[in-house]
Amino acid sequence: MIYFDHAATTPPYEDVAKTVAEVMARHYGNPSSLHRLGEESAKLLDRAREVSAAALGVRPREIVFTGGATESNNMAIKGVALQFAGRGKHLITTETEHPSVLESVKQMVSLGWEATVLPVDGEGKVTPEQVRGALRPDTVLVSVMHVNNETGAIQPVEDIGRLLKSSAPRVLFHVDGVQGFGKLPISLTEGSIDLYSLSAHKLRGPKGVGLLYVREGLQLVPLLAGGGQEGGYRSGTENIPYIVAFSKALRLAAEARDARTTKLYRLRGQLIQGLAEIPELTVNSPALGAPHIVHFSYSGMKAEALLHMLEEEAFTYPPARRALPSEVNPAVFCWPWVNPRISPHRVFGSVWAMNMKSET
Ligand code: PMP
Repeated sequence: MIYFDHAATTPPYEDVAKTVAEVMARHYGNPSSLHRLGEESAKLLDRAREVSAAALGVRPREIVFTGGATESNNMAIKGVALQFAGRGKHLITTETEHPSVLESVKQMVSLGWEATVLPVDGEGKVTPEQVRGALRPDTVLVSVMHVNNETGAIQPVEDIGRLLKSSAPRVLFHVDGVQGFGKLPISLTEGSIDLYSLSAHKLRGPKGVGLLYVREGLQLVPLLAGGGQEGGYRSGTENIPYIVAFSKALRLAAEARDARTTKLYRLRGQLIQGLAEIPELTVNSPALGAPHIVHFSYSGMKAEALLHMLEEEAFTYPPARRALPSEVNPAVFCWPWVNPRISPHRVFGSVWAMNMKSET
C-alpha cells in the first residue's frame, strides 16, 4: 500500500510511538504534584516546551500545549474575540480556512461579532491588498492559514503579517500553520504573527495533541476554566506522553525541513507529470503550491467512485499506476481522501518524503 493521505494524518515516527509508551508507563506523575514523580513529569513538560520552542524559534513561555489544532484555532479566535470585545467586534478570515476556524468565526458571529470572509482567487489565494481592503476601525483579528490542506495553496502570511504590523498594528494576526510547518519556512520571530496553531499528527507525532504559539505579552480569554495549567490557557492535567512525543516530532520536522521539502517537490513533480498524461484529468493545485499536496479533478466519474476504482486497480493494473511516481514503493498503497462537499469530481492526495523507495 502506498499511503497518499498525509494531509489528513501522518504515520507516527517509530521513535515517537516508543516515546509515548515509555513516558506513559514510567512518568505517570501529575506535573502539578510536589512529590518526586510529579516533579519528574514537570521536568519532562518543561523540556518538551523548550524543545518545541526551539523548533519554532520562539520562547518556551510562548507555547501553549493543546489537544490539537482544532482546539488551538478555537482558542486563538474565540480567545482574542472575547479578550478584545471592548476594542471592536470585527474578524477577518478567508473562505478556504479549516472548519475549526470558519466554525469558530461563525460562533462569534452568532454571539454578535461581524466577520469578513475573503474570497480566494483561481489558485486558492488571497492577497495582502484584500486584507487591507477589509480592515475596519473595529477589526480585532485576521486569521489566514499558511497552506490549504486540500489544494496546497500557499497564502502570503508573512506579507499579510507585515502589512498588518505597519498599517494596523493593533489588529492581531493568527496563522493556522498545520500544513506548512516542516515543509515551508515560517518566521515567528519577526513579530508579524501573533498566534500560530499546530497539530502533532500532521508531523508524524501522536493525534490529540497540538500547540498554540501566543506571542509574549498577548492575553486571551481562556476557553477552559479550571486548575490553571498551561499558563491558565488550558486547564486540565497535561498529557505528558503526547506532549513529549510531539516535541520530538517537532524537532525532527524542523531539523530535516530543507531536505524533505526538496524531496517532496521532486515527488510532487513526478506525480503531476504522471497525472498530466491522463486526458480526462485536470490538476488543480497551483504550480507554486505546497510540496506535499496535489489536487486534481477527473471528469469521467465522481471522485468517490474513482477513488474506489483506483484502490482496486492500483494493486493489479498498470493503467491506474500510470499516475504514480516511479519512486513510490508499491508495498504501501492507499488512495487519497475525497471531500464530497467540495465537488463530486475532485480528489486530492498528499505525499510525504517517506513515500520515497529509499525511505521505506
Ligand atoms: N487546520 C488544518 C489546515 C488542518 O489540515 C487540520 C486537520 N485536518 C486542522 C486544522 C485540525 O487539526 P486536528 O484535527 O488535529 O485538530
